[in-house]
Amino acid sequence: MPGPDRRRAVAVTTGVGVVVIITAAVVGSHLAGTGQSSTTTPATRSASPPISTPPARAGTATDPVASTPVPATTSNPLAGRVVVLDPGHNGGNFTATATIDQPVWNGREMETCDTTGTETDGGYTESRFNFAVATLARGDLEAEGATVILTRPNDTGVGPCVTERTAIGNQAHADAVVSIHADGGPSSGRGFAILLPVNDGINAAVIGPSTTLGIDLRNAFLPATGMPISDYDGTYGLQRRDDLAGVNLTTVPKVFIECGNMRNATDAALLTDPAWQVRAAQGIANGITEFLTSPPG
Ligand SMILES: [Zn+2]
Repeated sequence: MPGPDRRRAVAVTTGVGVVVIITAAVVGSHLAGTGQSSTTTPATRSASPPISTPPARAGTATDPVASTPVPATTSNPLAGRVVVLDPGHNGGNFTATATIDQPVWNGREMETCDTTGTETDGGYTESRFNFAVATLARGDLEAEGATVILTRPNDTGVGPCVTERTAIGNQAHADAVVSIHADGGPSSGRGFAILLPVNDGINAAVIGPSTTLGIDLRNAFLPATGMPISDYDGTYGLQRRDDLAGVNLTTVPKVFIECGNMRNATDAALLTDPAWQVRAAQGIANGITEFLTSPPG
């Protein structure tokens, strides 16, 4: 399992066929804390890959670090691995206020059981988007041999509570959990962001691996989707959060992804496009696969 601090050498084939080696330090220990603005100190991580050119995925034939143990087959690289995908909110939440408003303990404070989530100006709900992408990503990951668990079976139910969603990942001893969302940010803001845990004791053992998962997810989602990194949330698309049961209570590597901003017209056009949703799912699956198959270095 990857540690909190690692270096990764990545082979990149340039446009003229020359193979160069890029070493990217991946250090997450000094990410911005909750609520800390990223706009004034964007370069806190020497490890941060250039936003426009995220490093290629490791594990290629020319990757000098790929000699360490890798899955037995390339067709089922995730055989034996368990992934939990958590499509945020639920379609029935809109008419079940009494249920989803119930307070639950999130590890630091009380939080509501669940929320409705946001929607586009055109009324396309976040819960619908989340479920569509989670379902597509499940197919991608199963095709690679993973066992995939979704935290809800459809988009017509209520909840489950955020605490229950987290328990599903913990009890499955999941190798990776991704909670899939889309944001309701300022209408002028664009892009996707990854939400990472803050150490509260309960999640202490998975801060490092979750950070690595978040970085892998960011680096895969960007080229797969063309969605820009958020210009209003996080540092290079990474934001630590200590107010979410989903990351406060996790005992397995887990992050959230806000796939875009539903309140921004440009993002909304992508988020509601079925073809783009396929790309978003592939980006998420790619990031998880990278996390689960790349040696910690
Ligand atoms: Zn959400």
